[in-house]
Amino acid sequence: MAERNHRHNAGEGAVREGTVSKDRTRTRTLAAPCGGTSESPPVALVTGANRGIGLEVCRQLAARGFVVLLTARDADKAKTAARKLDRVGTVEPLPLDVADANIINEAAAEVASRYGRLDVLINNAGINYDTWQTVENADINGTVMETITTNLLGPWRVCQAFLPLLRQSQAVRIVNVSSESGSLAEMGAGRPAYQITKAALNALTRTLARELRSARILVNAVCPGWVATEMGGAGAPRSVSEGAAGIVWAATLPDDGPTGGFFRDGKPLPW
Ligand code: NAP
Repeated sequence: MAERNHRHNAGEGAVREGTVSKDRTRTRTLAAPCGGTSESPPVALVTGANRGIGLEVCRQLAARGFVVLLTARDADKAKTAARKLDRVGTVEPLPLDVADANIINEAAAEVASRYGRLDVLINNAGINYDTWQTVENADINGTVMETITTNLLGPWRVCQAFLPLLRQSQAVRIVNVSSESGSLAEMGAGRPAYQITKAALNALTRTLARELRSARILVNAVCPGWVATEMGGAGAPRSVSEGAAGIVWAATLPDDGPTGGFFRDGKPLPW
């Protein structure tokens, strides 16, 4: 079912968060992507990247010189998608099902042995825009549990598994791909599994950002807007390129950029 955001006017509403760390001494620019050195380019991992917004995020990061780990729950789909970006830059396929703790740990071990660090983590995989359900009739043991496992526990487990590798980087960015549907300030009726898990993902973002602030790790949630993908549907007004750009913005923030914020197109959204 198509994901539809209520509003598409970037930055509308009250600005509640998007704090800027005060103790940052080093500043990087978007032209020099975070985390890499002159010998080794920065390494970014994107979940749910075989299609839609995730695939386009991989394209844009590869074009900026990142080594991109394009992950998908189906290994063959990851390979096929990575091949599509061959000419753009260095894009490597990696199997990663965010609903499977063992596979997440295997993927982290693989990245550890190949690179010994990770600079950018983008939790993009998401499911179930459940417009056909209400809180009253939702299938708690089915759709709801499945959505919690993928949209909330997936990013949480991926963060836990990859944080030891992220801590090896000089400039870390974590981006949780959220939705304005998860904004408590804007929340309406319906699609309970989707919007409640995105609200929880926003809470995870703020909590983790506070926990990692002293380590100078920037953690932000980004809504891509209503984008024409399998989830968004063909009638959506935004292209994958437009939707992905705001995610890449958060992935390439300078060291003194915001942390613990919720953004679309680089502008704060109300929580
Ligand atoms: P999409 O076209 O449906 O793509 C979703 C991706 O997530 C697919 O690659 C899918 O892989 C993957 N995925 C699902 N479950 C997974 C799992 N357990 N492990 C790993 N990957 C998994 O959706 P999209 O529009 O690109 O959405 C990307 C993100 O943007 C989502 O978090 C979504 O909530 C958010 N978002 C989208 C919109 C919109 O209008 N499109 C608006 C706001 C937010 P398979 O091919 O294997 O299913």
